[in-house]
Amino acid sequence: MTPDPARILLVVNHTENRRLLLEHLRQYYQVSMGGNGQIEPLLDQPFDLCIVDGVLLKQYWQAIQLRKQQVQPVFLPVLLITHHPDVTLMTQNLWGTIDELITKPIEKAELQVRIEMLLRSRRFSLQLEAALNREREANELKSRFISMASHEFRNPLNLILGFARLLGSGRNVTPEQRIDFSQRIINAGNRMVTLLDDILITIRAENDQAAFNPVAIALEPYCRQLTEEVNLSVDPTHPVNFVYEGDQISAQFDEPLLRQFLTNLLSNALKYSPADRPVQFRVRPQPDRVTFQIQDQGIGIAAADQPKLFNAFYRAENVGNVPGTGLGLAIVKQAVERHGGTIELESALDMGTTFTVTLPLTIADAS
Ligand code: ADP
Repeated sequence: MTPDPARILLVVNHTENRRLLLEHLRQYYQVSMGGNGQIEPLLDQPFDLCIVDGVLLKQYWQAIQLRKQQVQPVFLPVLLITHHPDVTLMTQNLWGTIDELITKPIEKAELQVRIEMLLRSRRFSLQLEAALNREREANELKSRFISMASHEFRNPLNLILGFARLLGSGRNVTPEQRIDFSQRIINAGNRMVTLLDDILITIRAENDQAAFNPVAIALEPYCRQLTEEVNLSVDPTHPVNFVYEGDQISAQFDEPLLRQFLTNLLSNALKYSPADRPVQFRVRPQPDRVTFQIQDQGIGIAAADQPKLFNAFYRAENVGNVPGTGLGLAIVKQAVERHGGTIELESALDMGTTFTVTLPLTIADAS
């Protein structure tokens, strides 16, 4: 893929000079330009380099400087075209605004060299910023992991240690208590195993090592049974309602991944909505794709949280005491993308949430 041409903003007062520059520059760059009175809106548009002449610099230096400050630490270069005598008349403010100058009459080759040097510095600064952002994201991930681990590992571990000490203390423990304590230790251990499995799934999928073995699955009976399994494991007064809209089909899916993302979405819908609000699971096969829609009328997700929800260990502000690790949706996203599908969400605080997964369909067999 060839990179997009750099965007140059031409802020030149003299009409004929502007036309000549435009004619030359637009062979290599994407150029936008304006004369007096048309500059401010152009400065709000994205560009990689501004070429300005002395007359308009005196008029617009503040607006240009403001723009440079807004995008810091990314470097937004400004190249001044000037007559020699102008240079000595420059005030400190004007000097502070520009990064390079070229004197008239302009040599095309020289202009090109200066432009390219400035654009190269800009590219470096953009790369540096991207690296900084990656570093920032990695740090955020680390903080989220530590905050999750400190709850989710510590609670079951404390429980295991507490009950194991009781059992080993030689104190009088009835046979019923012994069974109860052992069961609690096993449950806490299982929670930790599930958590570790989730972490490993996320890391493995991030490194693209997750296996993908599609097999033919009869869509309607599979989803119906999965709903029943989810319903058996939760509060019986808060079931998922299953709706299937379309023909009976068999299609190719990776079964463990399909199960993973559907159970995660269904159990979230139940977990984050009160028992008296129904949860609906709607499956709609179409000729070339299938949509799975999971809709609840629960606590909803604030708009500010929505873009970050699929990041590992991220939890929204409004989860309150609802337990969780913030791993489920990261796993869902990976499982969906492994199928070449997409996931969207619509949500409003205290109104509810709808997740819609769309997967391309490879029909295995019409039944
Ligand atoms: P968790 O283990 O915290 O449930 P997930 O990765 O499954 O982790 O979800 C990430 C976050 O997305 C949750 O902590 C919660 O803030 C939000 N979330 C997910 N599903 C829903 C939903 N159906 N309703 C409201 N919030 C949700």
